[in-house]
Amino acid sequence: MRPAHHVTEPGWFGRRADRWRSVGRLLRHTHPALLTATIALHITVGLLPVVFIAWTSRLISRVPDALSSSGGSGWAVLGLAPLLAVCAFVVQQLLAPFQSALGELVTRQVDGACIARLMRCALTGLPVAELERQDVLDILSDARGGFERVSPTPGDAAAGALALIARYAQLTGASVMVALVLGPGPGALVAVTALVIRFGQRGSLDRFGALRIGLAGERRKLNYLRRTAGGPALAKEARMLGLLPWLRERHTAQARGYLDPLWEGRRRLLFRPFVGLAAVGLVGGGGSLYVLAREGANGSLSLLQLSVALQAVLIPMRFGVYFPESDVQTRDGLAAYHALTRLESMAAGGPAGPERQDGALATVPEGPIRFEDVSFRYQDDGPDVLSGLDLVLEHGRSTAVVGLNGAGKTTLVKLLARLHEPSVGRITAGGTPLSGFPAADWHRRIAVIFQDFTRYQLTAAENIGLGRPDRMDDREALLAAAGRAGAREVIERLPNGLDTVLSGQYENGSDLSGGQWQRVALSRALLAVDAGASLLILDEPTAQLDVRAEAAFFDRFLEMTEGITSVIVAHRFSSVRRADRIVVLADGAVAESGTHEELMALDGRYADLFRIQAERFAEEQAEAAAARATAGTLPRAAQPVPTPEGAR
Ligand code: ADP
Repeated sequence: MRPAHHVTEPGWFGRRADRWRSVGRLLRHTHPALLTATIALHITVGLLPVVFIAWTSRLISRVPDALSSSGGSGWAVLGLAPLLAVCAFVVQQLLAPFQSALGELVTRQVDGACIARLMRCALTGLPVAELERQDVLDILSDARGGFERVSPTPGDAAAGALALIARYAQLTGASVMVALVLGPGPGALVAVTALVIRFGQRGSLDRFGALRIGLAGERRKLNYLRRTAGGPALAKEARMLGLLPWLRERHTAQARGYLDPLWEGRRRLLFRPFVGLAAVGLVGGGGSLYVLAREGANGSLSLLQLSVALQAVLIPMRFGVYFPESDVQTRDGLAAYHALTRLESMAAGGPAGPERQDGALATVPEGPIRFEDVSFRYQDDGPDVLSGLDLVLEHGRSTAVVGLNGAGKTTLVKLLARLHEPSVGRITAGGTPLSGFPAADWHRRIAVIFQDFTRYQLTAAENIGLGRPDRMDDREALLAAAGRAGAREVIERLPNGLDTVLSGQYENGSDLSGGQWQRVALSRALLAVDAGASLLILDEPTAQLDVRAEAAFFDRFLEMTEGITSVIVAHRFSSVRRADRIVVLADGAVAESGTHEELMALDGRYADLFRIQAERFAEEQAEAAAARATAGTLPRAAQPVPTPEGAR
């Protein structure tokens, strides 16, 4: 699909042509039979009022004859006219629901395809580096607004554009009737008047739409306030801190910040042009009515002609107003669609590589993974976050990467996971550069638990199964992975076991603690390992655990994953001392590396920080013990703890 580029602002015709091209592209997502049926139906429904006018006029024209005929023969004079007029009316009423039903189908087909495109774009197509840019996030939020039905969707735009066919069929039919009766001049006059008003109104609506888009930031702030102030999340703090008066004032101020310019714009952009357009309508409509009256007075029109012309003139006069079934839908739905095409053009420029094919593992070589003189910066003009980094991750061994906050640990993981590519240098696996094969193939070879791993509001089975979607239904495999991650007990305690939704927001759902979630995330990663992933990465998934629990988690992890190439990132030095190798990262490069014992013997940065953290840990332990003694509670059951003996 060719992305829409807006290099220069297009003119009046250009904008309309763009809009119809977009509608055309959207309609390619509908089934041809559905499209044909919808168009045929709209034309029929559009022309039925014209048929109605024809038969009622015929009926009216025969009324004098019917009245003058004697006895019961009056009905005979009217003939089928009343029946056909009623039929046209009834059929139009009967078809109206089908119009909306077919519109719904069009919306669904178009949105289904567009949502698939958006997912492909956001989840795999767009480079992660793009998704970290503010302007890209704004566009994404515009596109999603449509898909979350906060505003009209691209499907609504497609259905709305098709609905215009009925309107224009009706206008054409009515103008032709006026032309047939009063002549081409009045026919053209009513048609042109209707179109001038229509395009004028639609243009105002577009300009008002642009103003609304420009106020997106203010709207987002207002929506945030409304959601927060009306939601349960604030209930506690609002009471404790007495936030209500402040919130009320803040909301009023924010609402004015958004609504004042909007209302001013509505007056300026919608009301004033409306007055001008109404004047055009008055002149055009008045002119055609004048011709009608003059011809009528001359006696040059039959009753039939008079009746047809009078009814037909009224249709174009009512045409120029706003169309509720189409106008906002096409304007906002196409805006969401344009946001999507912009994202797609960004994704097309990125190094996303081909889509992942389930089942087919590419021949990514096994063997040690090397960072060779790797430097990386997030922005071209930004600082180097990693610089000249050399690092070997031994095959089948565990490597812990430790360092203070901001040392570049997560960045290293992102490069290893190929969410970003090195600015300088290269990463190799078994001697082959990673950039030599598709990122998607590499992704299948690794299992990662990120610091902010996703807590899906889905069942426990799905939360684990997402580690390898093609094994989702293999309950044995899910339970085995859960068992190895220490999550078996967590699952057994859930009301519906593996089928429990892991969120209290659902019926029979269940919330998990931070530590329990970590085990579920570890199960997910271990399932991927069971299914063939050969590199396991943990990026500080234990941040909210206390020292003792974190150490227990890592110890268990190292035990479970023996023989697997693994990388553990931690900022607490004391937690990972059992790793086969520890790498200390500082200022974007490896400062020290070796086993815990070697690094302690080196007595450098690692030894220093380990001692400080171990001392703090001992203090925390003593304080906790004292608190327990005061409270008269028993100490918790012993868990493996990081004994600071290495520090002594
Ligand atoms: P660590 O995981 O060791 O705490 P990070 O890798 O998260 O460190 O960050 C290293 C440096 O890179 C920090 O100075 C951080 O501000 C910067 N950084 C991280 N992510 C981005 C980003 N998306 N854009 C720009 N700078 C970033």
